[in-house]
Amino acid sequence: MAHSYDETNIFARILRGEIPNKTVIETDHTLAFHDINPQAPHHVLVIPKGPYVTFDHFCAEASDAEIVDFHRTAASVCAMLGVSLGDGGAGYRGITNAGGHGGQEVPHYHLHIVGGAPLGRMLSRD
Ligand code: 5GP
Repeated sequence: MAHSYDETNIFARILRGEIPNKTVIETDHTLAFHDINPQAPHHVLVIPKGPYVTFDHFCAEASDAEIVDFHRTAASVCAMLGVSLGDGGAGYRGITNAGGHGGQEVPHYHLHIVGGAPLGRMLSRD
């Protein structure tokens, strides 16, 4: 079954400028902004500007330029937050949730970059 993109989701509205965001970095294809409900001292969301629902949807259907830009921008966020090991940072976690079992709340593909403190175990089933 093909992916179905909901144009009314909150990140689509952020991309259309209908809802404000605290932007970290923006490129032609990608936007990174602070999560409204941070789960750690650093919590940034990286989203493609195109209409993709999940990680696998993005990887299957986005252009090479979009995919490269997304990941380079995510790396820039890590550098800007000072969490990259290459800059002497203490590390971070990249998380993407997909669908019901993944606990995805917003149906527009996003990568959470969280850090700034030890993050504990990887999975919780709370
Ligand atoms: P998900 O559960 O879909 O992986 O994550 C969605 C994330 O979007 C949550 O961490 C939530 O706090 C964040 N979020 C939801 N609405 C908004 C909003 O209007 N602005 C921002 N900046 N983040 C939001």
